[in-house]
Amino acid sequence: METKQIANKKVTFYHYNTVIVGSGAAGMNCAVHLYEFMQRKGIENPQDRIVVVTAGLGLGASRMSGSDKQTYYKMGTSPDVADSAEEFAKSLTAAGCCHGDTALVEAIGSLREFYHLVQAGVAFPTDTSGTFIGYKTDHDPYERATSAGPKTSKFMSESLQKQLERYGVKTIDNQEAAHLLTTGSGDNRRIVGVVTVDKKSCAINVYLAENIVLAAGGPGELYKTTVYPKDQLGIHGLAFKAGLIGANLTESQFGLASIKFRWNVSGTYMQAVPRIFSTDADGKDEKEFLTGFFPSMSKMATNIFLKGYQWPFDPQRIENLQSSLIDVLVFNETQKGRRVYMDFLHNPVGNQAMDEFNIDDLEPEAKEYLQKAGALQKTPIERLAHMNTPAIEIYTENGIDLYSEPLEIAVCAQHNNGGFAVDKWWQSNIRHTFVIGEMAGTHGVKRPGGSALNAGQTGGLRVADYIVNAYGCELPDYSDKKADIEKQLSQLIDRLNSYKSSSGLVAEDVLEEVRSRMTASGGHIREPIDAQKAIRQAVELYKNIQQKGFNAKDNSALITAIQAEHMALTSIAYLKAVVELLKQGSGSRGSHLVLAQDGIEIHPDVIDKAKNKPLKFKPENQSLRNSVLQVEYDESSPDLFKCQTIPLRPAPTDRKAFEPAWKDYREGKIYS
Ligand SMILES: Cc1cc2nc3c(=O)[nH]c(=O)nc-3n(C[C@H](O)[C@H](O)[C@H](O)COP(=O)(O)OP(=O)(O)OC[C@H]3O[C@@H](n4cnc5c(N)ncnc54)[C@H](O)[C@@H]3O)c2cc1C
Repeated sequence: METKQIANKKVTFYHYNTVIVGSGAAGMNCAVHLYEFMQRKGIENPQDRIVVVTAGLGLGASRMSGSDKQTYYKMGTSPDVADSAEEFAKSLTAAGCCHGDTALVEAIGSLREFYHLVQAGVAFPTDTSGTFIGYKTDHDPYERATSAGPKTSKFMSESLQKQLERYGVKTIDNQEAAHLLTTGSGDNRRIVGVVTVDKKSCAINVYLAENIVLAAGGPGELYKTTVYPKDQLGIHGLAFKAGLIGANLTESQFGLASIKFRWNVSGTYMQAVPRIFSTDADGKDEKEFLTGFFPSMSKMATNIFLKGYQWPFDPQRIENLQSSLIDVLVFNETQKGRRVYMDFLHNPVGNQAMDEFNIDDLEPEAKEYLQKAGALQKTPIERLAHMNTPAIEIYTENGIDLYSEPLEIAVCAQHNNGGFAVDKWWQSNIRHTFVIGEMAGTHGVKRPGGSALNAGQTGGLRVADYIVNAYGCELPDYSDKKADIEKQLSQLIDRLNSYKSSSGLVAEDVLEEVRSRMTASGGHIREPIDAQKAIRQAVELYKNIQQKGFNAKDNSALITAIQAEHMALTSIAYLKAVVELLKQGSGSRGSHLVLAQDGIEIHPDVIDKAKNKPLKFKPENQSLRNSVLQVEYDESSPDLFKCQTIPLRPAPTDRKAFEPAWKDYREGKIYS
């Protein structure tokens, strides 16, 4: 550690082999593996070579998010259903835009990482023979999903944190990432350090490292209607500025979630088949708004049930009265200024043309599931209590009593399948910089529920393996880059100092504008002309920030200003991808609808609010499934970003015999 005065401000420098930004399940796991690989290699004091820096140990999706039973998707462990890595990879790539090589690596690494978590202490349930019990998620015949309860990812990151503490690896908390220090250009470009501002003291810290691992999660605060936890921002804007390339940014997941306490209402919350109703803005005028759209109670109640494991909003499940019609109808209702609730005290209520709710009348898939689960009680709350008491307790812990009050819900942004482009070692387009967890864009248009957590773990394993065995464990020597580094720090400090001007923008207002625009124009409903207008406004806002700066009077406002600036840039990148994909004639896919005058009408009463006409959507253009849309920061472009479309990388099919493969391994050729 050393300190220096730069632009009249004390700056503290630290030197590590690897700095990891973010302390979620992905970042913590990578740090654990780095220590273990270094130790295995005989490196002295690995704990002094690795550091995790984070805006909040208790923040992020891993610590704060979940659902009825948060899912971890891994290769099947059923004693009687065979699974293979190739089959697993096929499930990951099935809906397109997903590289075969990373999918196969996620499959191959899956069980190794699952057992790594078990060893770290995550209590995944077993039966009397020790089988890790699985269940099915979407399109999954192998029962690959498992869960440690509503808070699986919290338990993962906590267990890994304890492991790191046992190893003596430091996690530096309350560090808001403010800048990524870069040197060189073209193939010689490197990110050499992370600059953070301490959220309490506003001290400036610089973590110089040979290797940088970005694990700061998804851009949750990009959206107004979101189930990401509060204060989960990510560092996408900083990474774009440093030269990292984004991939599949258009592919976010949206779905039904409670909004007073942000939590997914998937799985048993829906399988308990609650009543869903709406009120006016003041909570009055209750209405059974779903009834007009379904021909019978059986159809309506079965679709509510199916939302449980067909959770993400899916445009391919709207027509012919499928389960995603429920998301559309909930959104339609909220667009009218009404509020939508799940009521666990009552069964679904029909209209005059419908029979009363009766479990025996549900379609076979729903009826048999509930029969098998023994969930035939009279009311939804009793069925939920029977199937999953922790799902009720999580709301009690957060001040909501499902036994006495309805749960307000909306269609929320939940996960970004896209992120930053990585190779099969999770290395970004900049050498020595790696991206893992939700920040890495390894998923395609759709992903099986639970595969995000698997991808975060396998990515971290790969990075640690590569760093230790291909790049080595030395500390960096950037003495020849001192002038470059200090120049960037001095510019950053001057900029932060200028954020105290009274004519500057208010950071909270900027964030609010960004979120509203993203939910309206880059969320689960998209339209070409609207998206183009949105990107023009987003660029204008960013340029305004560059000109006027912020009016940040105290430490907390300064942190918000740093966040607002990079979120404003992030929103341009996401909108650029949306506009470009629409230009390519993409249509509705993944978890978003593309509106079109000549598209498919859902129902005369489902209205496009902007046009006050029945909402019509364009079906998916499947020819785009074989490519990935990439987005790169480019100061000279009018939109500040440029796009390119790349073909998919296939999964490797070469299989070597043991001896030559062993030789490659011994000689380190597997890293080349
Ligand atoms: C409601 C909900 C339910 C979900 N359910 C499932 C599920 O069932 N199965 C599944 O596989 N996935 C699920 N996901 C997705 C999954 O939880 C996340 O993708 C995953 O936890 C992300 O882990 P991560 O380590 O990449 O990032 P996170 O856990 O989000 O951690 C990000 C870290 O980066 C830090 N950080 C963020 N911004 C900054 C900054 N500016 N400066 C410094 N540090 C920063 C944060 O403090 C945090 O430590 C769900 C997500 C949500 C929101």
